[in-house]
Amino acid sequence: MPQADCPLCKMLKGEIPAKKIYEDDKIVIALHPIPAHKGHLIIFGREHKQIISEIDDDILKKMFDFSRKLSSMVFDAFAAQGTNVLIQNGEAAGQTINHFCIHVIPRTPADGVNFEWQPKPADEAQLSELEQKISAAIKDATETGDPGNVIKGDNNYMVRQLQRIP
Ligand SMILES: [Zn+2]
Repeated sequence: MPQADCPLCKMLKGEIPAKKIYEDDKIVIALHPIPAHKGHLIIFGREHKQIISEIDDDILKKMFDFSRKLSSMVFDAFAAQGTNVLIQNGEAAGQTINHFCIHVIPRTPADGVNFEWQPKPADEAQLSELEQKISAAIKDATETGDPGNVIKGDNNYMVRQLQRIP
């Protein structure tokens, strides 16, 4: 989806209506126009970026901080009894608009929203193999084994992941 067709960018430009509840020079919070449940909020950046790896650290921190606070506020505002804070990172994860956002979805017990999955048994050998693979990937990306040390750049792990996004 080219940026010109992006519904969130169109909201930012005022080309399609938006119920914005907050905006500043970096981020916007709006009611989702086609909500999973009443009060479904989206938090997104002003820059058109597709996935979490592309988002600047300070903006991402702000988005997560706001999602945490909004998650509390919807209990009062919308009589929620729970919330889901959701990121769809890539088409395989259900992302349909290629503009990164964090969803805050107020929940009630009988709201019909379904994020449940069928747990699949995993054997010890498979878990061990996967543990080694992700540990090796983290080491490859950081040399220290600490995921906090992944550095953004032209030829690093996160950028390679981004290039795999269709
Ligand atoms: Zn966009």
